[in-house]
Amino acid sequence: MSRERPTFDEAFWQQPVYGFDQTSKAAWLLPRLYQLHSWHLQQCPAYQQLQRRFVAEQPGKPVPWQAWHDCIPLHVRLFKEYELRSVPAEQVIKVLTSSGTSSAKVSRILLDSETASAQAKALVRIMQHWLGKERLPMLIIDHPNVIRDRASFSARGAGIQGMQIFGRQLCYALNDDLSPNWPALDDWLARHQGGPILVFGFTFMVWQWLQALAQQGRQLDLSQGVLVHGGGWKKLQQLAVNNQQFKQQVRQLTGMARVHNFYGMVEQVGSVFVECEHGHLHSPAFAEVVIRRAGDLAPLPVGEEGVIQVLSALPLSYPGHSILTEDRGRILGQDDCPCGRPGRYFSVLGRVARAEQRGCSDTVAVTAGEQHAVAL
Ligand SMILES: [Zn+2]
Repeated sequence: MSRERPTFDEAFWQQPVYGFDQTSKAAWLLPRLYQLHSWHLQQCPAYQQLQRRFVAEQPGKPVPWQAWHDCIPLHVRLFKEYELRSVPAEQVIKVLTSSGTSSAKVSRILLDSETASAQAKALVRIMQHWLGKERLPMLIIDHPNVIRDRASFSARGAGIQGMQIFGRQLCYALNDDLSPNWPALDDWLARHQGGPILVFGFTFMVWQWLQALAQQGRQLDLSQGVLVHGGGWKKLQQLAVNNQQFKQQVRQLTGMARVHNFYGMVEQVGSVFVECEHGHLHSPAFAEVVIRRAGDLAPLPVGEEGVIQVLSALPLSYPGHSILTEDRGRILGQDDCPCGRPGRYFSVLGRVARAEQRGCSDTVAVTAGEQHAVAL
């Protein structure tokens, strides 16, 4: 078994973000994931305990994985119950948290500088594909204090900070109490309305902001803009709002036709899945999805609905390279999306029934000021 520390070298970053078909991607990413597995086995005693049965079954030399579903996942909830760490404590420079609600336990993701910088770099590579390299005037549908505490980031804060690299002349559209900051918006619009801009926010907060625009009878001209949003649909599903209606509302109130939803989580910051022009979430080079049957976790073929497992090439400082989520989804196809991007594409269908309520951006409206989010 390989014991060497995985690295993020030039060859790693030279991989095409959306250029791999499934076969060539497996040839590159599966050995990487296996290397991470070996690394965490060696470095993280808790991971070793959790994987012990697997190791015992294959004494000596475990066979490298042949398929995505060979990657054994840790359940996402373990990151709430245990401190899972694969580097010495003194190397941890940042702790990401998923939730601040009193009822839900918080995921704590421990980052060393190498993992944090790889996450930032991967996010840049992914988002540049959708946004281009030019920094755009950026409207953030959130309040400025969400990124103020730099040592202990909420996923939402981390997401916003990560995205700021694509923006300039930033404007936060909300006040600390999440009410719209109309003077700030008007000031920013006076300078940038009608031009190319970037709007970023968490899905439910964008939705609420749109409702506030409608209530005020405001009609913006952001027709040259692009909206990037993510963080869960649960609250919107409760309001019976789907992706299509969301986009319709965006277009009606702001003129924006380019809208990209993303799917990601605090346990795998950086390797996000972004929605293409056809509404499909695409796997980037650094990440992959597996769908498993809810009952026995058997891997499911294209088209069948089950629990989403996410794989990421990035986590070095914690064993988060293969995680079983509490989300339901379906693989829509492989290497044949009409947008032309090769690889696996999928949709997220909601939460697993009776899953523990995670504090995510969906709950922000109810508990203003607390830190939440499933994020970039
Ligand atoms: Zn596509």
